[in-house]
Amino acid sequence: MTLNVAIVGSGPSGFYTADALMKNVEDCRVDIIERLPTPFGLIRGGVAPDHAKTKNVTRAYTKTAERPQFAYFGNVEMGRDVSVAELKTMYDAVVLTIGSPLDRPLGIPGEDKIGVFGAAAFVGWYNAHPDFTELNPDLNTGAVAVIGNGNVAIDIARVLVKTPAEMAATDLAAHAGAAIHASPLTDVYMFGRRGPIEAKFTNVELREMGELEIAAPVIDPGQLPDEVTGEFSDRDLRVRERNLESMKSFVGLDDGTKPKRVHFSFYSNPVEILGGDRVEGLRLERTKVEDGRAVGTGETYDIECGLVLPAVGYRGAPMDDLPVDEWAGVITNDDGHVEDNLYVAGWIKRGPTGTIGTNKHDGDHVAKRIIAEITPSDLPGRDGLAALLAERNVRAVSFDDWKKIDAAEIAAAPEGAPRCKFATIAEMLASLD
Ligand SMILES: Cc1cc2nc3c(=O)[nH]c(=O)nc-3n(C[C@H](O)[C@H](O)[C@H](O)COP(=O)(O)OP(=O)(O)OC[C@H]3O[C@@H](n4cnc5c(N)ncnc54)[C@H](O)[C@@H]3O)c2cc1C
Repeated sequence: MTLNVAIVGSGPSGFYTADALMKNVEDCRVDIIERLPTPFGLIRGGVAPDHAKTKNVTRAYTKTAERPQFAYFGNVEMGRDVSVAELKTMYDAVVLTIGSPLDRPLGIPGEDKIGVFGAAAFVGWYNAHPDFTELNPDLNTGAVAVIGNGNVAIDIARVLVKTPAEMAATDLAAHAGAAIHASPLTDVYMFGRRGPIEAKFTNVELREMGELEIAAPVIDPGQLPDEVTGEFSDRDLRVRERNLESMKSFVGLDDGTKPKRVHFSFYSNPVEILGGDRVEGLRLERTKVEDGRAVGTGETYDIECGLVLPAVGYRGAPMDDLPVDEWAGVITNDDGHVEDNLYVAGWIKRGPTGTIGTNKHDGDHVAKRIIAEITPSDLPGRDGLAALLAERNVRAVSFDDWKKIDAAEIAAAPEGAPRCKFATIAEMLASLD
């Protein structure tokens, strides 16, 4: 009997799950259902446009998609076009790999002002994610505050200060390139509640900030300790030591020869976004770190800025009455199992942590569980889904269709760039007609 599995979401965890199932079950059919016509989740819509090598992982996902047991149903949204309950009755097992698309709020006054955009929205905008094409952030400002001390914050800061030449060989959205490169922006502030040792940057990303063409990192040497102290694993200790070394090498780089600056501001907790309807500034409370936690000192200071971009983490979106762990921002699960024949993997299972490769472990694990726990039956699977979508007039995009969209984007690439991304679903579908 054939094992029929539906996977909802075509990011890394979806593709790793599909791959593990098809490699281990000879008689299976695995279908990925994705709300966008384009596959690959945050590899396309999150990973920085100037980090092309990171995106090469999609070649492996394409190989997975080319297996004969596989089908792709792009432009099909669970919750809109088909429900979880329907999928559960059509397939032997259903795996949700829908990621964590929502920004965690800062929870401070002023967060509703014009000019506050969470990282999910802002990164989506510069990566041509169709949900955020119309974001139109007003970049007519000299200063931007990015809140957070992780790689997403650093990605945003870097994309904002790189020159058109530095971004020429990237897949930055055309609308974002036009706005960013016309902006009078000179200063990007990156705020962390804790200190340089607690910052979650990886070293490659951090080091890049010292190598930018027209932007210099600015760091207060008084905030840098002589050495890393505290209880860390060997691996963590090495990363922190390397980061501290990089930050020390930044001191003095801002010698006035570069017109833009990225300020690393530690021990600063945002407490209020200032201005009228629009953002005019940010108030921060100085902190100190006690037992690894940021503690307010009561002393505040203000900076002027026209945009505030919180990059303080992601959470899952509520979905079809599924049980949600609000605090962790995930679908409540027991090591990947939700209920009946329903499973989860990736960010919606464990929260927004780890690297792309971390999702491979999740995919392998959930595939193993399905193989051990599910007995194939004679459910309609792919044919049932195709019939339901046809009945509902849903235009599903196949993987071959995606290859046509891909080819059209590559053909439209400006000189030196890998592609020119379509920024709306209508354009993507039109390229197929
Ligand atoms: C800005 C940013 C930059 C990053 N850069 C790096 C990096 O450089 N290196 C690195 O190792 N990691 C990076 N990561 C982390 C990496 O992207 C994640 O680990 C990974 O994408 C998580 O995979 P996922 O499959 O769980 O979720 P996602 O990649 O988010 O995929 C979820 C998919 O589900 C789809 N979906 C959602 N809801 C539905 C629905 N209702 N119906 C159908 N489909 C749906 C979405 O459209 C999406 O395609 C970055 C993350 C972010 C946010």
